Amino acid sequence: MHCFALWRILRYEMNENLSLGRIGGIHVGLNWSLLVIAALIAWSLATGILPLSAPGQPSSAYWVAGVVAAVVYLASLLAHELAHSMVAMRRGVRVEGITLWLFGGVSRFASETSSPGSQALIIFVGPLTSLVLGAVFYLLSIAVGGGAQSGLLPVTLAWLGYLNLVLGVFNLVPAFPLDGGRLLQSLIWLRTGDRVRATSVAARVGMVFAYLLIAYGLATFIFAGNLIGGVWAVFLGWFLLSAARSEEAAGLLRQALSGTTVADVMTPNPVQAPDDTTVENALHGYVLASRHSTFPTHDAGGRLSGLLTMAALKNVAPDARETTLIKQIICPLDSVSTARPADPITNLLGISEGCSEGRTLVVEDGRLVGIISPSDISRLVQRSLAGRSRAPVPSA
Ligand SMILES: [Zn+2]
Repeated sequence: MHCFALWRILRYEMNENLSLGRIGGIHVGLNWSLLVIAALIAWSLATGILPLSAPGQPSSAYWVAGVVAAVVYLASLLAHELAHSMVAMRRGVRVEGITLWLFGGVSRFASETSSPGSQALIIFVGPLTSLVLGAVFYLLSIAVGGGAQSGLLPVTLAWLGYLNLVLGVFNLVPAFPLDGGRLLQSLIWLRTGDRVRATSVAARVGMVFAYLLIAYGLATFIFAGNLIGGVWAVFLGWFLLSAARSEEAAGLLRQALSGTTVADVMTPNPVQAPDDTTVENALHGYVLASRHSTFPTHDAGGRLSGLLTMAALKNVAPDARETTLIKQIICPLDSVSTARPADPITNLLGISEGCSEGRTLVVEDGRLVGIISPSDISRLVQRSLAGRSRAPVPSA
């Protein structure tokens, strides 16, 4: 599972609790919910599955195998997301990072591709990675087992193969926000050239799957008395249903905003403040006298260096204002979202907050030409949606 820029306004992603650093230039973090899943996998392998499939070992051996398998499974999830992100980067999409959570992983992209072919490829490599890993673990299991399939190592490897195959196949189910839903959308878009229609058809297919899952959950509960299995299926169905609805709404919003560029929305020629001055000087020089709450900054050479926010200024203790330089507290340029004036405004939907407080700097030929705030975007969205809901006047 992963996200494109528009998708992120839907907030299905979970927050990152623990940073794991950078892999291949991509920031990776995880949410605690994933550790619960990892513990559950280790526990069920160590106390149930492994002792049954490979009997006669001490319980410590089962636990070691269970914990190692859980860690390798998390690494497999990461490989799935890295595949999405690596291909996305190679196709010119800006990748913000990967968060691993309860349902797998989320790759956060700061921009999106306008080519359905690229999008299909970026999506397909995730499940493909899981399927290949699944096959590799199965083959390894056969190789180390030498025909006898009851040793601890071959059984553990076979389980890792199974988990990865399930992950790959589950993600290919054509329902948003699963990879399969997005893949279906890209393929219809590729065939018809109509992105909005592709989104709404894929959303409808996703809804059918969601309703089937809900019906299955209810039937499991009513006819088989399986409360936990039933509740899980209904919950998952509801999740897929709301995801499909949101995806369709986002598609309509994209249609309403199509043709609007960054230049149409930006505040042109914002004041740029020097970053090699002290906080004290900045406060009395321009901050308090201005009605703005953020200030793009330039370095001593006049080059754009980042964004100064009120929050950063407030964090400086009063007695440190004389000694703290603005460049020490700005949100650096590589953490601020940037756009070109001619870019479609839909690229900026769902920009995450971060230290830039959701601001986008508009840059042309290395020069700052404008700034866009989250309220500019939400005003535009409200206007567009209001315009769309007015019924068309029938012409006589
Ligand atoms: Zn995926």
